[in-house]
Amino acid sequence: MIIEDVICPFCGSLCDDLTVEVKDNEIAGIENACKLGYSKMMGYEHDRYERPLKRVGDEFKEISYEESIEEAAKILYNAKSPLLYGWASTSCEAIERGIELAVKIGGVIDQTATVCHGPTVLGTQEVGKPSCTLGEVKNRADLVIYWGCNPFHAHPRHAERYSTFTKGYFTKKGRTDRKIVLVDIRKTDTEGICDRFIQIEPGSDYKILTSLIAIVMGKEESIPEEIGGVKKEELLGLAEEMKHANFGMVFFGMGVTMTGPKYKNIAALERLVRELNRHTKFSLMPMRGHYNVAGAGAVFTWRTGFPYAVDFRRGYPYYNPGETTSNDLLTREEVDAMLVVASDPGAHFVNSSVRRMAKIPLIVMDPHPSATSELADLIIPTAISGVEMDGTAYRMDDVPIRFKKLIDSKFKSDFEIIGDIIEKIEKRGVKD
Ligand code: SF4
Repeated sequence: MIIEDVICPFCGSLCDDLTVEVKDNEIAGIENACKLGYSKMMGYEHDRYERPLKRVGDEFKEISYEESIEEAAKILYNAKSPLLYGWASTSCEAIERGIELAVKIGGVIDQTATVCHGPTVLGTQEVGKPSCTLGEVKNRADLVIYWGCNPFHAHPRHAERYSTFTKGYFTKKGRTDRKIVLVDIRKTDTEGICDRFIQIEPGSDYKILTSLIAIVMGKEESIPEEIGGVKKEELLGLAEEMKHANFGMVFFGMGVTMTGPKYKNIAALERLVRELNRHTKFSLMPMRGHYNVAGAGAVFTWRTGFPYAVDFRRGYPYYNPGETTSNDLLTREEVDAMLVVASDPGAHFVNSSVRRMAKIPLIVMDPHPSATSELADLIIPTAISGVEMDGTAYRMDDVPIRFKKLIDSKFKSDFEIIGDIIEKIEKRGVKD
């Protein structure tokens, strides 16, 4: 059976033009996916947990699915300060149930933006986000700036489908109708598809962005001859190109969100784009990594009013990044149990957090072994969303897209497992 228009469940580009061949309930071939998407979808069977596992001493013991749900419910119900973390690589439907679980157990629920584009959210809350869809970029953008990101490796088909090579309504010739600029601290492979590379000193994004704002506002006399390793002349040239584009676009990554003053970088970038809109049409967009991290932010926001790090321990949603964010809670040793869904914080969190995760009861819901599951006390295998389960995800431009189930699975989905845990918790009665 050939399935067309399949959505790739790997990165935030959510490419929707894959063709998948299914034979005897197995994926036999994939067309149009990049290496990242191909290896996730073709390798779906590789190295999977077959049954739920419970840690007994230094070893894992196989247990039944029912026992694993009972155990998970017991751990979360008995915890005073449980943390539910992950959610960026699962469906919006599962995320919504995760929030329901957090409310029932009076815990904190956080998602992976806390360690990637959380500062983007804060900048947006301060300044606002002048943005657009990837379709508008494809059809209109004649100046594209990649800032602190490396789509060549992290979003391999982004340039081909949306931002560089693709032909659109007003960009009929594709690549030759666009000017492409890379701003980064070092040359990456993305430089190979760009017309211009501007190398900046590490941590100097804020200085350069605020200098560009001054230039665009006509106050270039306030800028020194060199700033952040970039000559004033080069910044004047970039600002001119920006002002004279018909439709300019900035795609930015963690090279901006996680350096220097972090969210202030994003607020400055958003101010720059706002200033540019006095001269022409300009937009910006974060390069979201996990395929549904944008969906996690959307679901959190519509259900709780806050995009991540939402604390229900007081009985109502409370949000204060730096206080209720996962690494801060774990480092302060406030968390006394943790559920990790579709994520690997053991590989990405700071040492002090990982040390805390190793000490507390840790439940991991994942199809595959990971650095986090090595620390787990309970592992519940899951079906893979986008391969074995359908659902909804949000592309990096916040467009919701329905992804398909391609094959049947013997495992339950995140949505079903969270639902089973909630049912068990409800049987235990209302928590104090
Ligand atoms: S660019 Fe991203 S969404 Fe597109 S095929 Fe590659 S991994 Fe999948």
